[in-house]
Amino acid sequence: MPLLNWVVSHRRMSIGLGGLLIALHFPAAGQDEAVWKGKPCAVVLTYDDALNVHLDNVVPILDSLGFKGTFYISGFFPSFRQRVRDWVSAAGEGHELGNHTLFHPCDGTVPGRDWVRPEYDLSLYTVGRIADEIAMANTLLEALDGKHTRTFAYPCGEMRAGDSSYVDEIRKEFPGARGVGERLEQIDSVNLYDVGAYMVNGQSGEELIRLVREARGKHAMLVFLFHGVGGEHSLDVSLADHRQLLLFLRQNEKDVWVAPMREVVEYVRERSRQ
Ligand SMILES: [Zn+2]
Repeated sequence: MPLLNWVVSHRRMSIGLGGLLIALHFPAAGQDEAVWKGKPCAVVLTYDDALNVHLDNVVPILDSLGFKGTFYISGFFPSFRQRVRDWVSAAGEGHELGNHTLFHPCDGTVPGRDWVRPEYDLSLYTVGRIADEIAMANTLLEALDGKHTRTFAYPCGEMRAGDSSYVDEIRKEFPGARGVGERLEQIDSVNLYDVGAYMVNGQSGEELIRLVREARGKHAMLVFLFHGVGGEHSLDVSLADHRQLLLFLRQNEKDVWVAPMREVVEYVRERSRQ
């Protein structure tokens, strides 16, 4: 019997009363119930585009509940450049400053992309250019948080510069990268260079919690992708709904491993080597 299966099966035998209490919150768990660092599921809270509301609304409540999030930073955004010290403070609290490039290039040929400036049109980039930009974003973030590793999030979820994929460049620089495909991920099949994520835009707290319950039932990893939290972006969630989700995660922390993307990705890698 593989070591992991042995541990899981023996662990289940010893759950006892704890398992009964867990069942009050969630349906009964099946096999592989503790694959996420001893818990049945993992939740990653990601926040894109270095918004002011992340510093003003999100970091304080994460800190108050003891959660660490991942903030995907584009270095050129004013809300990053004008508040560098606040981002350093957030990193000091243990939050991940993820790489989201310097200039957030997206494909300007996609309908509705009038906001893409010609100089940052990803359809006109080369792979070498996006690779250099991402490397410089890493240098910038390392100067702020002193970390040698972090994860990446593809701007607009796009993985091509011009007509070529730049995913191989991401593999060289990062342990993992978040995509935008809406799916839960299994620990044995997740593509670490296209980790699925649920874009949050107007959902209620209950709807967000329902996803956590689903992840628990499927022993999966669930990544939330936030932009605005209480405003500042067209993709937005209310403060109350965001808070409701976080309080649920806190109340159920015995069953839900909440960690930054870097930590979860490194855990998946470590486990795959066993
Ligand atoms: Zn973005």
